[in-house]
Amino acid sequence: MDCIFCKIISKQIPAKILNETSHSICFLDAFPLANGHALVIPKNHHKKIQDMTSTENSDLFSLVHTMMSKVDSLTGSTLLAIHNGENAGQEVPHVHVHLIPRSKSDSAGPVHSMFDSSLGSSDSEIEKYYNLLKI
Ligand code: 5GP
Ligand code: ZN
Repeated sequence: MDCIFCKIISKQIPAKILNETSHSICFLDAFPLANGHALVIPKNHHKKIQDMTSTENSDLFSLVHTMMSKVDSLTGSTLLAIHNGENAGQEVPHVHVHLIPRSKSDSAGPVHSMFDSSLGSSDSEIEKYYNLLKI
């Protein structure tokens, strides 16, 4: 499979590996948005979070939890981000969690700054999506 992250796992291409568990691996992003920008990925190729088994999912987020302490110690604030699907901005189609140190002076903002404006949903629309999504 022609997947850059699978090639990192199989050591076909090098990466600055920070930590590893049975199902997951953490390494530095090669094009960091901040010093210490790290990625946590499952060792098996899955495109989306919901495609992983619950064991892989638990293992992945356990490694995120471990690495968050390290990464967050750099600036005291961290952006945790997952682009789950191409239209959400996912450029590498292999699940990855970004851990990006944030600081007051960086160029990023709160999540609402990613969009031009909030939707201004009506109460009935909010109710509709509440009913669609609740389990
Ligand atoms: P996405 O845009 O899919 O959310 O994130 C993909 C991330 O992978 C980007 O932050 C990009 O810098 C990083 N990346 C792309 N190619 C490589 C690579 O070959 N090695 C490493 N370590 N990171 C990469
Ligand atoms: Zn892959």
